[in-house]
Amino acid sequence: MSFNRSDFPMLNKSMHGNPLVYLDSAATTMKPQSVIDAISQFYSDNYGTVHRAVYELAGEATAKYHAVRVKVQQFLHAKSSDEIIFTKGTTEAINLVAFSFGETFVQPGDEILISAMEHHSNIVPWQLLCERKKAHLKIIPLLENGELDLDAYEKLLSPKTKLVSFVHISNVLGIVNPLKKIIEAAHLRGAKVFVDGAQSAPHLKIDVQDLDCDFYAFSGHKIYGPTGIGILYGKKELLEQMPPYQGGGDMIQTVTFEKTTFQPPPLRFEAGTPMIAEVMGLGAALDYFQSYGLVKIHDYEAALMRHALEEMGKIDEIRILGPRGSRSSLITFNIQGVHSLDAATLLDLKGIAVRSGHLCAQPLLQHFGCSSALRLSLAPYNTMEEIDYFCKALQTVVYTHLVITK
Ligand code: PMP
Repeated sequence: MSFNRSDFPMLNKSMHGNPLVYLDSAATTMKPQSVIDAISQFYSDNYGTVHRAVYELAGEATAKYHAVRVKVQQFLHAKSSDEIIFTKGTTEAINLVAFSFGETFVQPGDEILISAMEHHSNIVPWQLLCERKKAHLKIIPLLENGELDLDAYEKLLSPKTKLVSFVHISNVLGIVNPLKKIIEAAHLRGAKVFVDGAQSAPHLKIDVQDLDCDFYAFSGHKIYGPTGIGILYGKKELLEQMPPYQGGGDMIQTVTFEKTTFQPPPLRFEAGTPMIAEVMGLGAALDYFQSYGLVKIHDYEAALMRHALEEMGKIDEIRILGPRGSRSSLITFNIQGVHSLDAATLLDLKGIAVRSGHLCAQPLLQHFGCSSALRLSLAPYNTMEEIDYFCKALQTVVYTHLVITK
């Protein structure tokens, strides 16, 4: 079932005289009116700080803030709302764990494992940790088609492996990684597992207890919520052993100049006045998303994908990256002889928004022998007609290129 397009004010926009065809939802999704209203209502009607005051507005804001934490707990099927930490986004969640888990659990000579298909956000924080701790970053290679080399993964795991960090759905290939297998193998060697769920939270049912992952992160802005808010899930027994990531108000129990004691998680990891309005917006986004039901959303997105793959398959000059089967709602590709930035510019003139460039995954693009690519990514507000319009525009790009280069 598709979303009701009229719920999304941005989808009424025109770009360069054409209706906006927004095909960049893997970068960030458009927002339904209910999310915009929740934020604006908070600022205009219910505004107050959280955790700090006894007056009614602050009490109400605190209760609503906590209610969203519980909503996220249910969304991820976590055991306790104490396992849900509000962050700025997936990137901050990864940095938090790289710093804080790293402080306690990573020693010189230890190893952190990531895969060769990671987003830069799931590479750089671990590099920084390894430099700081004199640990080693090991990379799980990919098979030629871009899938993870699971045999190589098993061989790389060792008693020195302290943590494995993986993307659930690749933001370039759309591949859904076999998480349970990966997690089980890591746990057998005593390693903890971080899952980058930035691309999966809007598309898959997530059950952190069933997965048995140790950490899971996603970004609000990719699931119809506002920017500046994300989630870190962490198993309580691990979070309790981790030191604060930042110091400030709200995360302390007592402060003297000699010694400070800290709150238990999650507040220990939420220093300072948090993103209260963004949390309200995230709550509204989860309500909106869940009101459709994941199965209906999934079926509709799968139909859009099949259509896009079929129509794009008719254009000989298109080279799609990664395996054809089992991919989530995105397609990364190149057009023979046309630079991705030129193609994206021509598409923009037709009102089409697609991602272009290195897609924040330079090592992965290198695996496919390119330094840039185009990416179409879908959400349930997209339509079959938009895909037809997009494929026609692609044909024009190819044709224009042929005429210019003849
Ligand atoms: N990981 C993946 C797979 C992503 O696609 C993204 C966003 N493109 C991130 C991490 C980082 O998310 P954010 O920028 O919202 O922190």
